[in-house]
Amino acid sequence: MAKSKKTKKKTKRKLAHPKLPMQRQLNLLHEGTHFDLRPMFDNLNKRYFRGRLCRYKVMWGRRRKHRPKEYFIFGTIQEQDRVIRINRALDQPFVPAWFLRYVLYHEMLHSVVPDEMLSQGRRRVHTEEFNRRERQFPGYRRARRWEEQNLSRFLR
Ligand SMILES: [Zn+2]
Repeated sequence: MAKSKKTKKKTKRKLAHPKLPMQRQLNLLHEGTHFDLRPMFDNLNKRYFRGRLCRYKVMWGRRRKHRPKEYFIFGTIQEQDRVIRINRALDQPFVPAWFLRYVLYHEMLHSVVPDEMLSQGRRRVHTEEFNRRERQFPGYRRARRWEEQNLSRFLR
């Protein structure tokens, strides 16, 4: 126990914008301006993965100042930490919810379809099995078409 010295009378101050505890901050990262990723994830998990994806966090990636020039990464998955991040540029009103669902499904599929080991320690993540299961997703064609037609909106 620390001995407390007699000090000047402290004035109690309240922070105008109290910081949320870390866990709460993390938990809110799934809420975007237009889309909330959490219910979308839970719904896909139940429907297509029999709830197999446990304790995953799904969140919007951080805001970027500039749009990329060459290619656009829609989402990523970190399997060790069980984190799925979706590019925040997709949190816009012109993005159809069904497209976002496809993007999320794609990342979720990575967690259940194993990568293939190639030579020299390289890995193939979009295996034939992966592609086959991806094509089974209802609305897959529509989503890919939308992606093709709208990609330029995400690039510089
Ligand atoms: Zn992928």
